[in-house]
Amino acid sequence: MFGPERYRCPASDSLKARGLFPARRGVRKRETLEEFTNGPFMNELDRMELSRGEDRSAWQPARRVHDGVRRWTGHALAMYEAAFPAGATELLPAAAWDYRYRPADGGRDAAGFRIKAWGRYFKSADGRFRELRLPVNRLRPRTPVERAIAALVAAEGDPDVRVEHVRVVQFALTDGRTEVLFDGTRADAVAYYRDNGAPAVRALLDQPEYRPGSACASCAIAPLCPELPRGPGLLGITDRGQPRRSWSPTTARSHRGCPARGYLRSLRLPVDDSVERSAAAERGRAVHAYLAARHSGPAPRPCGAEVPVDWVPDGYDLPPVERELGARLLSHHAEVCPFRLADRHDPEPEPLLVFDDPEADLLVLTEPDLLYRDGGSWVWRETKTSGGGPPVRKPLATYPQLALAVRVVAAGGVRADRIELEVLRPEGPDLRIIDPRSAHTRAEAAAVLRDWITGWHRERLFEAAPGPECARCEVARWCSATRPQPSTQEAP
Ligand code: SF4
Ligand code: SF4
Ligand SMILES: [Zn+2]
Repeated sequence: MFGPERYRCPASDSLKARGLFPARRGVRKRETLEEFTNGPFMNELDRMELSRGEDRSAWQPARRVHDGVRRWTGHALAMYEAAFPAGATELLPAAAWDYRYRPADGGRDAAGFRIKAWGRYFKSADGRFRELRLPVNRLRPRTPVERAIAALVAAEGDPDVRVEHVRVVQFALTDGRTEVLFDGTRADAVAYYRDNGAPAVRALLDQPEYRPGSACASCAIAPLCPELPRGPGLLGITDRGQPRRSWSPTTARSHRGCPARGYLRSLRLPVDDSVERSAAAERGRAVHAYLAARHSGPAPRPCGAEVPVDWVPDGYDLPPVERELGARLLSHHAEVCPFRLADRHDPEPEPLLVFDDPEADLLVLTEPDLLYRDGGSWVWRETKTSGGGPPVRKPLATYPQLALAVRVVAAGGVRADRIELEVLRPEGPDLRIIDPRSAHTRAEAAAVLRDWITGWHRERLFEAAPGPECARCEVARWCSATRPQPSTQEAP
């Protein structure tokens, strides 16, 4: 709850921490596959380390584990072994420590709380030293709040008067790298928590802000949430008999290519950067980032055909050929820039839109490239970049986010009068206008969305479908069905 804010909702965290749930919770269909991605890893370590009758974690794999998760688990165990070689330490594995707080002067109703840290626990034989190891997919910067709370759990969880010194380490399951997050005496840990952790814990328990996002898919109070926008029938599916999930146009695309690929991506397993960040993909992202920055502010200036030589935004590294192509695409954008005409204003680049569709029991997430005002009406614009190829003939069928845009506008989720598709191609720009009020367009959007969603909605096992896509699959490393590439096959 104290990690990156991007995927969190403070109100949901607060209610969860207080143990508040709706009195009546419907019975939901469960996924066939195990949903706790690192559960098999932790379970296997429990089996290996806590083999002498000590308490094991409450978690046991109750459901089938996807082939990709099994491979990931094997890799993670090898990385753990590399980070903490057996025999290299005299520390002993321990069962989980929980920090419990109950006000000394509180009456029967005084609020107490308990803090858990999800990790591996070790102690010295004499009980004077404790080490808490926190698993992460990749090492990431930890805030003082995270460090302080972990240090408190190591020092004061399941109190033991013998504890004198504690250490907190994070370790990366991807590459076995480690980083010490805290190393100090028990008193240091308590003081560090008091200064850095306690204010955040108090704030968590009293958070009024609702922040709709991906957390809404698993939030127990979603059916009652005052801030989660509803879109009954948005996806055109009436079927509450499937497990609750979140859906976005990206989900649709990756599932259609290969169900296993979409599934493993959705678990956020580490991807192959040489594929994920290929030069062409990075060029597309850099163009989007450049336009998003240009199109921000209440009254942005129109983009010109002269593109600066150093147009590539920070964080993107493009080879010369992609930098030149990107500049050419951006110079074409000047012809169709929404702000080339007066009376265009109030841009909202890449807003996150979230809707709950109770008829399908799905959470829908989408990020339009740009919303802006044209006089008195709103416009929804999607921008695509292309390195070549023929013009798009059927925009709705090609881009599920356009079909979704039509449905969202038709349902009143966004009050736009038109939807635009801007395609930047080396030969020049295309600008297509889609009228979301047209009955024909609405019917086409509904049919397209049904086609994209129905198979995925009923999907249970997300099995691999090897094919040409394997050659540029960013999660092939976790897939045992990868089709061998021609260059690696032996000659007959
Ligand atoms: S439904 Fe979403 S916005 Fe509402 S409390 Fe839950 S996570 Fe937060
Ligand atoms: S390697 Fe091929 S079969 Fe495996 S997940 Fe990727 S696309 Fe699917
Ligand atoms: Zn522009």
